[in-house]
Amino acid sequence: MATKIFIDAGHGGTDPGAIGNGVIEQYVNLNVANELARLLRQGGYSVMQYRTTPTENVLPGKNDDLRNRAAMANDWGADYFISIHTNSSPNPAANGFEAYVYRLGTTAEKLGQSIVDSMVRQLGSKDNGVRQANFAVLRRTRMPAVLLELGYLSNPTEALNLYSPAWQKAAAKAIYDGIYNFVKP
Ligand SMILES: [Zn+2]
Repeated sequence: MATKIFIDAGHGGTDPGAIGNGVIEQYVNLNVANELARLLRQGGYSVMQYRTTPTENVLPGKNDDLRNRAAMANDWGADYFISIHTNSSPNPAANGFEAYVYRLGTTAEKLGQSIVDSMVRQLGSKDNGVRQANFAVLRRTRMPAVLLELGYLSNPTEALNLYSPAWQKAAAKAIYDGIYNFVKP
C-alpha cells in the first residue's frame, strides 16, 4: 500500500494568514500545496488534501478549523502530515526556510531536516533549520507532522519569490524531493 501523505494548506476561508508586500499567505500556501500534491500523486504516493481551493473544508472558527485539519488526517490514517505556511516578521530583513515539529529527536524532525536540506540545496533558501513549536496541528496529529514556513512575506525579496508561480513550483519540487529522500511511495 502506498505511503499516505496528508497535505494541509495553511489558513483559507476568511483567514488570509500573513500579508506582506501585498502578498497574501493563504494563496501562496494553496498553490504550493496543490503542486506538491500533484507531484506526490504522480510519484505514487497516496495523498489527501485539506482545501484544494481557497475555502474547501475550512471551518469558520479558527480552533474548530485547526481541530478539523488534524482530525481529517487522523481519521484517514495518514502516515505523514505536511502543513504548508508562509512566514512574516516585524524585521524586514528576516528570511529563510524553516520546519517546525512538536518534538525534536523524532521521526518528524528527520523528515523536516530532509525537506530543509532539499530547499536549501535547490532554492538557495537560508537554512533556519528544524525548530520545536506547540502548534495545534502538530500537537493534535497522531502521525509524524511537519509544518513548513516557506519564507518571509515581510522580506521584499522573498515576497517576490513567494508570489512567483515559477518559484512556487520549484519549492513544491524541493519539498517533494525532501519527502522522497526520506520515505519512498
Ligand atoms: Zn501561516
